Amino acid sequence: MNFKAALYKRLEKYARIDTQSDENSQTFPSTKKQLVLLKLLAAELKAIGAKRVKLDKYGYVTAEIPATVKGKKPVVGFLAHVDTSPAASGLGVKPQVHKAWKGGDIVISRKHGLVLNTKNCPELAGCRGEDIVTASGDTLLGADDKAGLAIIMTVAEYLLKHKEIPHGALRIGFTPDEEVGQGVKFFDVKAFGADVAYTVDGDVAGAVEEENFNADGVKIAVEGKSVHPGTAKNAMANAARIAADIVAGWPEHLLPETTENREGFIMFTDISGGTEKAEVSGIAREHDLKKLKAMERQLEAIVAAKRLKYPLARIDLTFKEQYRNMKEVIVKRPEIMGKLMAAVKQAGLTPHVKPVRGGTDGARLSFMGLPTPNVFTGGYNYHGRYEWVSLDGMNKSAEVLINLAREWTK
Ligand SMILES: [Zn+2]
Repeated sequence: MNFKAALYKRLEKYARIDTQSDENSQTFPSTKKQLVLLKLLAAELKAIGAKRVKLDKYGYVTAEIPATVKGKKPVVGFLAHVDTSPAASGLGVKPQVHKAWKGGDIVISRKHGLVLNTKNCPELAGCRGEDIVTASGDTLLGADDKAGLAIIMTVAEYLLKHKEIPHGALRIGFTPDEEVGQGVKFFDVKAFGADVAYTVDGDVAGAVEEENFNADGVKIAVEGKSVHPGTAKNAMANAARIAADIVAGWPEHLLPETTENREGFIMFTDISGGTEKAEVSGIAREHDLKKLKAMERQLEAIVAAKRLKYPLARIDLTFKEQYRNMKEVIVKRPEIMGKLMAAVKQAGLTPHVKPVRGGTDGARLSFMGLPTPNVFTGGYNYHGRYEWVSLDGMNKSAEVLINLAREWTK
């Protein structure tokens, strides 16, 4: 199956629409411009003959591809997000195709001196001979997640035309604001009506994700004692310095900049204060909940030692649950990953299960009652000007979704 031309046509069209989300916005969706693409997608779904196409008051687009087989089969959902990251401009995106990449430098922009190769992106090495799409040097590409949108739309169109392919009812969902962590906040899981879903969002061909971080917020509040520095001996507790002492006491090998894959960390994101008062905020991240709690106890021990060292100060340490690892939900129904692995293998790829070093919409949905692992799109280097996606990888992703729809009738 070769969908590359159709996939590129859609990717290009969607990428040219600026849909950057905004983490400081109080509205939902966080930016109005996301609705431009959401409306377009709803219109396209109607045009290809999808059923029950709906754009709700939050901007969620949902639709159905009716079953082609009789009998009760699990309803499978496919989801992708329309917004692009606030980390890089998404205005005036000009996609370009580097056809049949031979393995040398891919010039994104001569003007900006932006070059992509296997040295600065080893993940590219698996894509020799493939058509690679990048932006043109001034913006991100937005394949995260417009590649996902293009893949789902192309698969939907194909399945609606080829009713001989056996599948149960399929649901499609397009959502805003994934990049600012709010993507499925108002998503009506019950109305969506799927028994299981897959996000089609990111990573190189073959990658599938069933696991994300367990995440807690960290807060350290220090109350000091201010005294004239001239008479401060044994009388002052300098809150700002105590806060810095605690932060410096955290081991170097448990930081985001020194960890990868399955290694957890605590990152101190913010320090503010003075002599009287200081506050440190941070995030704790670990795939294994037991290890997360152990790391938190380690920070508690550091703080306890500082309380002894600074008896004139008051130091409070608190943790707040942010999100949990979706694997906990997904492992309860082994067929969810089992069918995905089979679908990836049928597309001629070796599945590669990767732990997500972050949160995902799928994680939130999983805890809302809809188990939702992630399927690759064939892209990489998200949220910046080096972003790329392989059209061949996108094509494989489309094949995987078709295989997956068939797998769920078995
Ligand atoms: Zn994404």
